[in-house]
Amino acid sequence: MSTELNLILFGPPGAGKGTQASRLREDFDLPYIATGDMLREHRENGSELGKEAESYMNDGDLVPDELVIKMIMEEIEGKGDDGFLLDGFPRSVGQADALGEEIERRGRRLTAALLVEASDEVVLQRITGRRQCSNGHVYHVEFDPPKHEDVCDQCGKPLTQRDDDKPETVEKRLKTYHGQTEPLVDYYDERGLLRRFDGTRSQTEVHDHIRATLATLRLEERL
Ligand code: AMP
Repeated sequence: MSTELNLILFGPPGAGKGTQASRLREDFDLPYIATGDMLREHRENGSELGKEAESYMNDGDLVPDELVIKMIMEEIEGKGDDGFLLDGFPRSVGQADALGEEIERRGRRLTAALLVEASDEVVLQRITGRRQCSNGHVYHVEFDPPKHEDVCDQCGKPLTQRDDDKPETVEKRLKTYHGQTEPLVDYYDERGLLRRFDGTRSQTEVHDHIRATLATLRLEERL
């Protein structure tokens, strides 16, 4: 029986998915595939996909499914053969169906959908203070400041605010989350795959909780 972990991580923007993902990928040595990071890279490189995605991203809307699904499937094909950790995909029921069909076609299955939850109020406060470097290390000006203002402790790169972390766009992203992504809570619950985590706890507490859950899941996979 395979012991690979095929995981998705979802939840509202600012619930701590990126922070948790960077810890989990070290713990479990899983290929990490983050749609938002990939799309930002495309946007910065000015690729065709980046140009098409840009206006949706800047407005806090979802990039159309046909663009994102293709991009992610190629990535899973390329590096997700022994398991994967998807961050920011799927983000709609259409994307979840596409992912499900694709991995089933390969004779694999999803291990769990990890939901990191936080209220709109908490998320707004967190995101507007968020700063990150180009390597994806994340800080908060108040709750988790870097040692030197606007410089990454880990790699020395400058820290900046994401364009879509401005308050008006965050509100739009939250609306998009509630309208399009939140239905995935029931979707994965009905399939017995949902695992919930309280994103308002400390980063270490959330991390410990997810790690314990994954260790159990992995043991179950071996049985
Ligand atoms: P994130 O870094 O995950 O918050 O993503 C930033 C932006 O990229 C989102 O607000 C969307 O515009 C776009 N995006 C990321 N993932 C997806 C996805 N799975 N489907 C559609 N758009 C996405």
